[in-house]
Amino acid sequence: MKKGICKKKLITGFLIFTLLLAFNSCKKRELKDYNVVLVVIDTLRSDHLPFYGYKKNTSPFLSQLAEKSTVFKNAFSAAPWTSPATASIFTSLYPFQHKLLMGLLAIRRANQIDPNLKINKIPEEITTITEVLKNAGYKTFGISDNLNIGEKQGFTQGFDKFETYMYQKAPNVNATLKKWKNEITNEGKYFLYIHYMDPHAPYHRREPLYVPKEDRQEDMISAYDSEIHYTDEHLKEMFNLFKWEQNTLLIVTSDHGEGLWDHGRMGHGNSLYREEIQVPLLIYFPGGKVSKRLTPLVSTLDILPTVRDIIGLPRDENDEGMSLIPLIEGKEKEFKERHLFPYLWKKVKVEIEFRSTLHDKWHFIVRMPKKKELYNLIGDKLETRNHFFKGFKIAAGLERKFNEFLKNCKKYKQKSLDIKLDNEKLEKLKSLGYVE
Ligand SMILES: [Zn+2]
Repeated sequence: MKKGICKKKLITGFLIFTLLLAFNSCKKRELKDYNVVLVVIDTLRSDHLPFYGYKKNTSPFLSQLAEKSTVFKNAFSAAPWTSPATASIFTSLYPFQHKLLMGLLAIRRANQIDPNLKINKIPEEITTITEVLKNAGYKTFGISDNLNIGEKQGFTQGFDKFETYMYQKAPNVNATLKKWKNEITNEGKYFLYIHYMDPHAPYHRREPLYVPKEDRQEDMISAYDSEIHYTDEHLKEMFNLFKWEQNTLLIVTSDHGEGLWDHGRMGHGNSLYREEIQVPLLIYFPGGKVSKRLTPLVSTLDILPTVRDIIGLPRDENDEGMSLIPLIEGKEKEFKERHLFPYLWKKVKVEIEFRSTLHDKWHFIVRMPKKKELYNLIGDKLETRNHFFKGFKIAAGLERKFNEFLKNCKKYKQKSLDIKLDNEKLEKLKSLGYVE
């Protein structure tokens, strides 16, 4: 028995040593010289991907890539809807810091009460991931198929070239990238941000994965899954066309999840339950040299500090996220101690605010001012059993952590801008369910 354990330890030790060696040689000699590609697949729940345990093969390409990548099993967004969540990816700040709290939907709705349409944006004083890479000598390109990500909300800071569409679907995104290919690849390193929209409602019924179901909800889920597969195929096309396998650090994530009726609602931007904020996070290192599955809680705020680390820049004290490189190298301790603070604030007819704290195995949510819930992240993935009354002390501790952080963190000044939405844009938003 003792001998068996020793042998097992030895093999595990050897494997870790080999991985570290591969990672370190990759990091020191090469990583700074590669392109950086950030792919955000809108509305993608991690638990609908087979390499996160889903029963259907929604992502043959990403699953294959995951075999050669580092996959973070418990990654969380900072917000359950597009603009605040993507701004948090770009800035490594929580929404209550960068203050981009609402996208076009919320502004349009607020306009029904307040006719002076105002839009908030990422403050210019914040250095975004694009600017970090631009300053480090990368050419910078961005394409978003979600109208919420555009110039008016400050997302184009630092981009040499940026295009925003209104959900014109993955083939259109790819067609644009093909047009840009020479410019992107002709010389030097590049940063490319691609924001696919297809898993966002309204769901199309895509071959070959879609199977009709009699039950309306099951049918919608079948369509949602088919959109994931559809996006996966299109991402594969770009991966091969641009030859990212050998020359690129590729990060794949999502801005938020989707309700799919786990707590009675279909969409997102409605709560901070896990189905709306847990997202996939996969980092592919050039040549597929680091393959791991990691379970500590991580955040999409960690993407920017990780990129800084990889390109050899020191940590920026304003980043609220942490570089994931130490975690990949086996240093788990500080990740186990950290707290994450997803957030939702919106004002439609009334003001709604949700705050959440994730730590260790607990997820505490408060709908302000006082509807409080506590869920076990390990034993209750669907968050059906509220432990708040039994776990009152744990909940109080988590709430205190949020309040302390909110009080002490750096907050940026928001500048509100007038925005005019033309009729065509409003019609399009309406068809996407963005406007009532
Ligand atoms: Zn989104």
